[in-house]
Amino acid sequence: MSGRLGDVELELPAAPTEPEEKPGCERCGDRGVIQYERDGTTFGAPCPECRANAVRSSVRTRAGVPPRWAEVQREDLEVAWPSQFTLSEPPYFELVAGGGEYGVAQAVATCRFLDLCVELRAPGRWCDVGQACAEESARMRYQDQRFASSQPLVEAPLLLLCDIEGAATQYAESVLCAILRNRWQANRHTIVCTSIAETINGLQQPTMALLEGFELIELAAPQPT
Ligand SMILES: [Zn+2]
Repeated sequence: MSGRLGDVELELPAAPTEPEEKPGCERCGDRGVIQYERDGTTFGAPCPECRANAVRSSVRTRAGVPPRWAEVQREDLEVAWPSQFTLSEPPYFELVAGGGEYGVAQAVATCRFLDLCVELRAPGRWCDVGQACAEESARMRYQDQRFASSQPLVEAPLLLLCDIEGAATQYAESVLCAILRNRWQANRHTIVCTSIAETINGLQQPTMALLEGFELIELAAPQPT
């Protein structure tokens, strides 16, 4: 009598949560295994949902997604998921803009970024413009070891660059422009985002020209109730 190949006949471990507490995984109740019966015997198979979450969580950590955005789930977003996201073809060059409030564009872009990291099996980098400037300047001027272990921004197979409204100085904008130009030329998936859609019009011509090639994902501001 046997289950599917690789599955084991087992006693289910107790769920680690209190009975009243809602489990994180509704599929398996945080046991990590799902049970099924065959010929009167109970078998356990790894929970596919937990496995997917574990992959996502390790992707988040390696990409350097800050805690503030790390737990954002697509289902929790108050804006509708932009339909363009499912239509475009790789390589992805996307500009997520608007949403009315600070953080909306970042949340949507972060979810999109994590989806793509998993889908494309590509190591991603999460970065905002301020951090990008600090890294680039440290690398160029001092060969600073602090950033030696992180994937260079122009080389990451997938990059999410947040808060392009932070490119308010000439230096910041030149860094932004250099990163975008290099990634365009190398055909590397790049997502940029800004809460303030109008920011784009304030950028200098070379940066604006680069961004014109991006697919614009414009988030609607929530309707006042
Ligand atoms: Zn599970």
